[in-house]
Amino acid sequence: MFLPVTPEEVRAHGWRALDVILVTGDSYVDSPYVGVAVIGKFLLASGYRVGIIPQPDLAGGADITRLGEPELFWGVTGGCIDSLVANRTAAGKRRRSDDFTAGGINNRRPDRAVIAYTNLIRRYFPKTKPIVLGGIEASLRRIAHYDFWSDQVRRSILFDAKADYLVYGMGENTVRDLADLLRAGRRVTDLKGICYAAGEKKDGFLAIPSWEEAATSPEAFTRMFLTFYRNQDTLTARGLAQRHGGRWLIHNPPAAPLTQKEMDEVYDLDFARDAHPCHRRAGAVRALETIRFSIPTHRGCYGECNFCAIAVHEGRTVSSRSEASIIREGSLIASRPDFKGYIHDIGGPTANMYGFECRKKLARGVCPDRRCMYPKICANLQPDHGPQRALLRKLAALPGVKKGIVASGIRYDLLLADGKQGLPYLRDVVNRHVSGQLKVAPEHAVERVLRCMGKPGIAPFLSFRDHFYRLTAQAGKQQFLSCYFIAAHPGCTQDDMEGLRRFTRREFHAPADQVQIFTPTPGTISTLMYCTERNPFSGRRIFVEKTASGRERQKQILVEKKIPFRYAEKNNQATVTEGKTMGKDKDVKKETKKKPSKTLKEKKEAKRQKRAG
Ligand code: SF4
Repeated sequence: MFLPVTPEEVRAHGWRALDVILVTGDSYVDSPYVGVAVIGKFLLASGYRVGIIPQPDLAGGADITRLGEPELFWGVTGGCIDSLVANRTAAGKRRRSDDFTAGGINNRRPDRAVIAYTNLIRRYFPKTKPIVLGGIEASLRRIAHYDFWSDQVRRSILFDAKADYLVYGMGENTVRDLADLLRAGRRVTDLKGICYAAGEKKDGFLAIPSWEEAATSPEAFTRMFLTFYRNQDTLTARGLAQRHGGRWLIHNPPAAPLTQKEMDEVYDLDFARDAHPCHRRAGAVRALETIRFSIPTHRGCYGECNFCAIAVHEGRTVSSRSEASIIREGSLIASRPDFKGYIHDIGGPTANMYGFECRKKLARGVCPDRRCMYPKICANLQPDHGPQRALLRKLAALPGVKKGIVASGIRYDLLLADGKQGLPYLRDVVNRHVSGQLKVAPEHAVERVLRCMGKPGIAPFLSFRDHFYRLTAQAGKQQFLSCYFIAAHPGCTQDDMEGLRRFTRREFHAPADQVQIFTPTPGTISTLMYCTERNPFSGRRIFVEKTASGRERQKQILVEKKIPFRYAEKNNQATVTEGKTMGKDKDVKKETKKKPSKTLKEKKEAKRQKRAG
């Protein structure tokens, strides 16, 4: 069942008005992977009347006024992806396609969608109910932040959008509590997980450097970001306050992650797993190809790669659904007439973090001064892939399921740290849960760059690769690793990319094909490095490639000739088995053309045999 998008659909629900209207930068896809659908369905299940306006036209009022005015609040999101990431490439060019827009053409989502939609609402409803921002764009831009596209430190998006509240992180409970308080006419400013503007700093809250200081001083920006970053744990975080001119941004501590029971309730909601029929004429929503028959098993990530914003959006604590809830969802998917037998992904931000967490973290919060997986796996984490093995086995055994694929990335260092279940888990994945290629993300091979990324050294990756190909050979299969790399990360030079290039040719006898140029998105330590050109922990200067041509060049060093390739592994020795050799690539030329020279003895023997006929 879909939430209503037209007045007729509102009436069909038996409603005369709506409590909440959600506005989104995506087409309306009713899926557990789409935040606006999850929030809408959750509010509906909590007794609220909710409607959705997807991708309203900014040129007039027809779309935004279609459902009237809500009785409680407007909820505004840019969609599943920050609108500037969705609309622009790492080189700043406009993208032509959009996976979350029906028809796939990128012509519906404005840049800075959250600000554009809030302005649109205010234009047609000047004195309206509160406007509440949510979703990843608002969440990662909730305090002063570096904006790559304008190359400046911008204010909190709350001020630029002139909204009333901002809900950050995983917001189900916060949004429901907000609705309850607004309905009861009570104060909402003590609610965890929200930001709002105030004339004064809140008592007991920590003052972080102001927006003006952060915008003009790299040291102040670094202090601001690190204090913000270290105050995201639900058990230990303090409230923060940041001055913006004559006003304060009040950042309440984060809301607790959902309990397992609450997670199960959310994912048990009735999702249509389809785009709303109003989009049918425009065409298909491409994202559905991957999410329609996929199952999210958990949220959060303690991997803390420096370029990733999950720590400040979903949090460092992993919350897992119960096995029973996931199996229920698997059965539901398998019973659909359009299901062809393949669950396209069973995973989360990192596939193999399902079902275990550090006990100390759950009881007393994350450690403020160390990381769970870097520079090595913390002894308290005690990874256990047993629950995920059991889950995968049961999902694969469901009637109608031919294969349950693990398409989310696997942290190989975590897998190798589980001495009991790690390799059996990999064997299960290799034997039953890979669709030709398994995605892994070493990201780089040069140790100095990996340190800037907060990633483990390259040795665990090579060990994982060897295990993967050994198990693949044992299974008698032809399947491959698909490796993801990043070019132009802060600290990475052209020489480092040459080093990575040599690594990929030495270890895989082929070029890399999955290479992204680093994009400094808000809310990450790598973006802080990009902006300040310093290592935030040591204060030392680092090289940052900022020119568009230099960034592109770094990528080209690695991909230069994009030729399909495949690997095979015999006795842990990678060899090219298919694909053309690299015409102009000297390194590969040497390796593919050069035959081992014969010894004098071998030459004499060859001559003797020739004479002998
Ligand atoms: S004890 Fe280790 S695993 Fe637990 S929160 Fe601290 S660093 Fe992470």
